[in-house]
Amino acid sequence: MVVLGAGVMGASTAWHLARRGVRNLLLLDSAPAPGAGSTGRATGGFRAQYATAINVRLSLLARSKLESFADDTGVDPGYAPHGYLWLARTDRELALLAAGRRVQHQVGLTEAVAVTPDDIRKLNPALSGEEILGGSFCPTDGYLLPLRILEGYLAGAQRLGAQLRWGVQVTGLDVGPDGRVVAVRTAGERFACGAVVNALGPWAATVMDATGFVLPVTPLRRQVAATVPTTVLPLATPMTIFAGDGFHFRVRDGRVLLLWPTPGVPGRPFEASVDAGWLSQVAAMARARVPCLRDVPIDSAASWAGLYEVSPDKHAILGAAPGVSNLYLINGSSGHGVMHAPALGQLLAEIVCDGRATTLDVSPLAPGRFAEGALNPVSELL
Ligand SMILES: Cc1cc2nc3c(=O)[nH]c(=O)nc-3n(C[C@H](O)[C@H](O)[C@H](O)COP(=O)(O)OP(=O)(O)OC[C@H]3O[C@@H](n4cnc5c(N)ncnc54)[C@H](O)[C@@H]3O)c2cc1C
Repeated sequence: MVVLGAGVMGASTAWHLARRGVRNLLLLDSAPAPGAGSTGRATGGFRAQYATAINVRLSLLARSKLESFADDTGVDPGYAPHGYLWLARTDRELALLAAGRRVQHQVGLTEAVAVTPDDIRKLNPALSGEEILGGSFCPTDGYLLPLRILEGYLAGAQRLGAQLRWGVQVTGLDVGPDGRVVAVRTAGERFACGAVVNALGPWAATVMDATGFVLPVTPLRRQVAATVPTTVLPLATPMTIFAGDGFHFRVRDGRVLLLWPTPGVPGRPFEASVDAGWLSQVAAMARARVPCLRDVPIDSAASWAGLYEVSPDKHAILGAAPGVSNLYLINGSSGHGVMHAPALGQLLAEIVCDGRATTLDVSPLAPGRFAEGALNPVSELL
């Protein structure tokens, strides 16, 4: 079996397959070393506060796997439950957060609670507090270390016999007359195979031509502004998110990271540079909303951008590609991929080895849902 892409999805899938006894696993990645794709650009947030049951369930499964990750792989994944604090500035935002909490509670995330402006001042005293009506807080949300998770799964998979080749650019798939993939084509070689996993992140759709299945995954630029090194905010600051416009911030590696989602660059979907105008805008937002950052400049050299791998309903795409029974997809997590990779890798290994996922009902993630018009609801906030 060939796994395309050795980011966190390919690595998790390979480790879980190897643990299930699958042998002859080969991972191919075009980069020279681990972490060159989205996984290396992730800021390392972990949350279970989502608006759909399937996303909450994926997070709860992932969280339990993060708790045993060090025992399983020998690597500490850095899970640090400092919480996610969502802030509402309108009644509508408050109502949307409350609707999300109802789903979360039904699925078992009972520790996600409504918070008042007073609670918010205690949870994050750095906020100016202006216009904040209330919010949501979940203390078991927080942070993880993306590259540690990648390292743990890659090294673990290799210990279990998987082979890994860097610097190999996959150019396409060869499909036999029966509609099954027979080989992976690369710039220099052709790898005959019994099955394939597409774990190519934002690039997942680029190798699908011969399969007849249009994989609806598109790249979307996400930029991260990093301040100069500072101690104005404590490390244990919760991830703090303005629900209305998505502006959020956290502390990492001795800097404050500021994020604010914007559309990508028109006509250049894979463009992943940092826009100087965006840096100025996000710095102004930070100064207005987090007064202690007023005198902490942005370090443009330490800021970065990367690509989300977005599906039409912003939920993962998991399972065999329609019409191509030996091509498995683990794509489209839409910016939640690091946190969900431990769960999705396990579930895909179940699909490959048992014919279906047994730990969770993953029908909401079925690759055929787009053609069937059975998309998941997309929350504006969560
Ligand atoms: C700025 C930013 C912040 C984020 N923050 C978070 C966060 O806080 N929490 C979270 O859970 N997620 C976050 N994400 C999303 C997360 O990074 C992704 O969902 C996740 O890394 C996807 O993993 P992947 O393995 O599918 O993709 P990738 O890590 O991109 O792996 C795909 C691999 O495929 C390789 N590849 C590409 N094309 C080819 C080819 N033709 N042939 C061979 N190899 C190829 C690449 O080199 C790469 O290694 C963030 C993303 C960005 C950009």
